[in-house]
Amino acid sequence: FAINMDQLQLDEELGKGNYGTVKKVLHKPTNVAMAMKEIRLELEDAKLNAIIMELDVLHRAVAPEIVEFYGAFFIESCVYYCREYMDAGSLDKLQPVGVPEDVLARIATRMVKGLKFLKDDLNIIHRDVKPTNVLLNRKGEVKLCDFGISGELDKSLAKTNIGCQSYMAPERIKGESQNNLGTYTVSSDTYSNVFAQLTAIVHGDPPELPEERYSETARDWVSLCLRKDPEKRATYRELLSHPFLVKDRDSDVDMVGWVQKALDYKATASILATKAHLPQSV
Ligand code: ATP
Ligand code: MG
Repeated sequence: FAINMDQLQLDEELGKGNYGTVKKVLHKPTNVAMAMKEIRLELEDAKLNAIIMELDVLHRAVAPEIVEFYGAFFIESCVYYCREYMDAGSLDKLQPVGVPEDVLARIATRMVKGLKFLKDDLNIIHRDVKPTNVLLNRKGEVKLCDFGISGELDKSLAKTNIGCQSYMAPERIKGESQNNLGTYTVSSDTYSNVFAQLTAIVHGDPPELPEERYSETARDWVSLCLRKDPEKRATYRELLSHPFLVKDRDSDVDMVGWVQKALDYKATASILATKAHLPQSV
């Protein structure tokens, strides 16, 4: 069925990105909470229609590691895109509580499995792997969103924006990332799994996990993701069969507990921040 604006009741804003705003909405006919992303594009209707058609492939992107797509439509010059609401939000907002090694392994497993599914089953390369595009819920699930599916959409966005730089692979920054078909190679997504800064990506040594807090196995796994030469970077298959992620298969890591702790920490931090801005007498 096709979703339209009349069926939606707008709720709180969940966040803003470079291209638009994401709001929580209630889909009244089904009583399902959704996240609606609004992308403003100054395009004629034919182009907007082409984008909506291209987004349709998202209906096939059904996997436990991928945020579910419900539908898209456009009104005037805005594309609206409805997807599964993830009630713990994105990883960037949860990581300040600290990420213990077993939680890191579970998040890494989900991400690699999601990326591998997109590549193997749908021939999609994500192109924008970063913490704001890794979403979690209170059930402890971890899912990817915002992968590049629409050539038309990408083209329109590329005119006004460039991707988040800190997570880009060195060959993308240097402009070597395209193979002779003009498409990104899959190893660029593996790099984005872990963070770094722009110049450091090209000129410096790859970042490492801190020695005090993570095992040799975890540190080795991360280093395999961050090999500067894309040819030497580990493949998804290699990453999944590495001891760091093999151990995760039998791990009974308490993701629900960690998500709860991270949300509590976030709530406390925001109360403290509000108090700090109030006059002394309050
Ligand atoms: P960029 O525009 O560079 O992709 P971004 O990923 O932060 O950056 P959006 O995708 O527009 O931008 O998302 C904005 C914020 O909304 C995200 O950071 C995330 O915290 C929140 N968000 C997005 N989708 C959902 C969702 N399905 N459920 C819950 N929160 C979401
Ligand atoms: Mg996003």
